[in-house]
Amino acid sequence: MKRQMLKSAVYLSALLCAAAPAHAEWVTRVTDGIMGTRITVELWADDKAKGEQAIDAVLVEMRHIDDSMSTYKPTSEVSLVNARAADGPMRISKELFDLLTTAREYSVITDGAFDITYASVGYMYDFRKHIHPDEAQIDAALPAINYRHVLLDPKNQTVQFSQKGVRIDLGGIAKGYSVDGGIDVLKTLGFTRAYVSAGGDSRIIGDRFGKPWMVGIRDPRKGAGSVIARIPLVNAAISTSGDYERFFEENGVRYHHIIDPHTGHSASKVRSATVIGPYATRTDGLSKTAFVLGPEKAMEIYNRIDDIDAIIVKNDGTVIYSKGIDPARSR
Ligand code: ADP
Ligand code: MG
Repeated sequence: MKRQMLKSAVYLSALLCAAAPAHAEWVTRVTDGIMGTRITVELWADDKAKGEQAIDAVLVEMRHIDDSMSTYKPTSEVSLVNARAADGPMRISKELFDLLTTAREYSVITDGAFDITYASVGYMYDFRKHIHPDEAQIDAALPAINYRHVLLDPKNQTVQFSQKGVRIDLGGIAKGYSVDGGIDVLKTLGFTRAYVSAGGDSRIIGDRFGKPWMVGIRDPRKGAGSVIARIPLVNAAISTSGDYERFFEENGVRYHHIIDPHTGHSASKVRSATVIGPYATRTDGLSKTAFVLGPEKAMEIYNRIDDIDAIIVKNDGTVIYSKGIDPARSR
């Protein structure tokens, strides 16, 4: 099944060679400021105005997700959950309930490497201001990290934290989720060729008239334009997590934005991990695993999951690929 997916979707040797209609065109927009990242939307539209309207609709959807899920916004639904869910069951929107359920599934399949309660310690880091918690603060807060503390009741659509001190943050999944939300909007409007990305999370529908979309994976120790591999993609999502995204160094220690739920420290076992799969929510959620578990254990998990592939840049700079990827074809 996995091989089939790669053959038909990722490497796509037999692409459709449809001719482009006369007045149709590619419409592209780059927007900063939603979810603290750069949003890119590119689509093939019958006419430009319709394309621009569709991009507006994608951005409305992404702003909605940011407004309800950002912990930077005190009025977001997630902030309210953090403020109240330790006091008792709290009814939440179906959208948030479903995403919390998905997050728990990713915790289970990654042996707890992905864990939204990382925030119980994680909230004490500020990578822009170069602030990190000290050992005593980490020790005190660490018992609150455990995805099992988040009690979900599907019947009543409620969430409850089993103890005080638990905090959640969807920063490891929300960008991918918003990309999927954007793609859903475009599909509903009838678009069949499009690219939506939010920071390191992207998803593609359709091809580029006989060619795949090419998505570059950055070299973790070189500038933003550098590329270690180019991946041809059609109808697929791709997420890259890197230790270069949000970090600072102090006394030779690199503090960056992926936290090991077992220690409360930055998880530094790889330099970057890229996951390719059907949905950006899934690829985003799974791209953190390698940082926490290390390249070998993570690759074992990635190889076990049917619908994904992965590319990991190890700490010595070497690159390893999951079973379904032919490195010779991703240059
Ligand atoms: P980006 O935010 O640029 O998409 P990533 O996809 O690598 O980057 O996600 C990093 C974010 O994931 C962090 O900023 C934080 O919000 C969240 N996070 C950090 N550690 C974990 C973890 N162990 N499990 C789940 N989410 C995490
Ligand atoms: Mg991401």
